[in-house]
Amino acid sequence: MKFIGAHVSASGGVENAPVNAHKIGARAFALFTKNQRQWVAKPLTENNISAFKENCKKYNYSPKHILPHDSYLINLGHPEKEKLQKSREAFIDEMQRCEQLGLEKLNFHPGSHLKLISEDDCLKTISESINISLQKTNNVTAIIENTAGQGSNIGYTFEQLRQIIDRVDDKNRVGVCIDTCHAFTSGYDLISKEGYETTWKKFELAIGLNFLKGIHLNDSKKPLGSRVDRHDNIGIGLIGKEFFERFMNDKRFNNIPIILETPNDGLWAQEIEMLYGFVVNSEK
Ligand SMILES: [Zn+2]
Ligand SMILES: [Zn+2]
Repeated sequence: MKFIGAHVSASGGVENAPVNAHKIGARAFALFTKNQRQWVAKPLTENNISAFKENCKKYNYSPKHILPHDSYLINLGHPEKEKLQKSREAFIDEMQRCEQLGLEKLNFHPGSHLKLISEDDCLKTISESINISLQKTNNVTAIIENTAGQGSNIGYTFEQLRQIIDRVDDKNRVGVCIDTCHAFTSGYDLISKEGYETTWKKFELAIGLNFLKGIHLNDSKKPLGSRVDRHDNIGIGLIGKEFFERFMNDKRFNNIPIILETPNDGLWAQEIEMLYGFVVNSEK
């Protein structure tokens, strides 16, 4: 079964996220557990935590299908010591918030070298950041997201993600989330049947499906290999409808959270319905 949802708003409190997900017919969801554009946030209250858990139960969301996303300010590969430290502290705080909410995963963008260090050194720093964060927490898995490779963002090839994983001590608490828009604009063809098969074969060879813990399902406004990150609504971007039909009938993506981050949130309910409509002759 596919678990499609979207990155829903948690404004007014994290406990509103499952409610917002339910409203659009989602079977999975993503959220920020704090304001994503600020370094410091108020701790979660007992009320937030219990209401969040209650609402998840009420609307049937298991932690398995909830994929929190970290703040955009965090750079776990930061070349400067002090700023790296600040990022690591903020990331550990986010992991702890996830634990408080009973969540199992935290999705993050690997980091940027800011043209001050080599890609390889940046990848090493990211692994070290993950190791430190895992030591300070107990249950949350670090989910590395592939990037479009815009600017100095690292993690735009499957091999780079693998390099990060290779240096993580606890392989049971690291995984990846593939963003289809990022994969496409970083140079992985998803349009043709051959391109689709080759891309996922490359993924299996470099990383392995056992590490795949989530998908960000987005179409793209920018072309293959452009290395520009601009999401588009499902089926109307440059990846196109055929990819999404193929994806929805590919059992390799069953049972993991599949999250829409498409630009117009007013279309999410419609997009989810359309995606389930693509599934032919099996359980939806
Ligand atoms: Zn994404
Ligand atoms: Zn993106």
